Amino acid sequence: MNQPLTDGFGRQHTYLRVSLVEKCNLRCRYCMPEEPEWTPGHQLCTTEELLLLMDTFIKLGVTKVRLTGGEPTMRKDFTRILAWLSRQDVELSMTTNGTLIHRFIDDLKRYGLYKLNVSLDTLNPVRFEEMTRRTGFHKVLENIHLLIDEGFDVKVNAVILRGQNDDEIIDFVEWTRVMPLSVRFIEFMPFSGNKWDDDVMVPFAEIKSRIEESYAIEKIPDGPNDTTKHYRVSGFRGNFGIISSMTEHFCGSCNRIRLLANGAMKNCLFSDSETSLLEPLRRGEDVEPVIREVIARKHATHGGRFAIAGRENRSMVTIGG
Ligand code: SAM
Ligand code: SF4
Repeated sequence: MNQPLTDGFGRQHTYLRVSLVEKCNLRCRYCMPEEPEWTPGHQLCTTEELLLLMDTFIKLGVTKVRLTGGEPTMRKDFTRILAWLSRQDVELSMTTNGTLIHRFIDDLKRYGLYKLNVSLDTLNPVRFEEMTRRTGFHKVLENIHLLIDEGFDVKVNAVILRGQNDDEIIDFVEWTRVMPLSVRFIEFMPFSGNKWDDDVMVPFAEIKSRIEESYAIEKIPDGPNDTTKHYRVSGFRGNFGIISSMTEHFCGSCNRIRLLANGAMKNCLFSDSETSLLEPLRRGEDVEPVIREVIARKHATHGGRFAIAGRENRSMVTIGG
């Protein structure tokens, strides 16, 4: 057995988030810059290269793989990748905007991907178009219901932005009264080209207290590496969580590694650097020492909200959340 991927703070890295594709069919303002810089096609991983890299991570102890993007379901060989992953000893999940998921229900079942985070920031169709700069609200909503009916474990991701959708926090919680899903409110994070503003970010404590003004809520236990603080309103079928990346970071228990569509590896979502694994792979070199070195130099924390806000980073659409 290989030595686990352990950093200088003793954190073992067993969770790989893979961005399958940079591009997306939505244009969420908080994620996609007005003029995105796309990687030229020949610098993106082919299917074989992506599988080789994922295989290396799995041999180095990765037990959980989350597919993300851009929009992961837009990758042409999406089902081939899914089929390969289903033969590995890993727990699978995906983050998707939900617009195309109806096309893949049978594949997801066949290949054992039952955990889906579907991003939906508003329950208002007009607002959806303002926020995503595209149509598709009704399809996403329909697909969330379809996934639940088909027995998938569904979480809805909603990034909360002051003045844009923060008046819908209660509507989202109310949704969980009858719907067996988990709504996850996410603090707005800064990335290249997303016009991040501290005043627009609604902090965890405020989201929670606004909910407490309307409901008596109870805490649900969180998992050991969880980024979400979970709660429920008693008697409701679903529950909700808050992801406090900015105001109460969870770096101490971080077990996450990111692999981008261009074969670059990031040891932290907020890291200002990334290391290509694709270049050594194409030169026929062993990527394991490179992976170990990137993990070894991971920082203890991302350094707080203002430290991150000023830092160089990619756009979120090319990292994958
Ligand atoms: N296209 C897929 C989707 O929207 O679910 C997967 C990729 S998207 C980058 C992954 C997650 O990152 C989404 O839930 C999205 O809402 C979240 N996200 C994007 N930009 C963000 C930001 N600036 N702050 C917080 N979350 C963000
Ligand atoms: Fe696309 Fe997801 Fe980014 Fe929206 S959040 S632009 S759906 S990648």
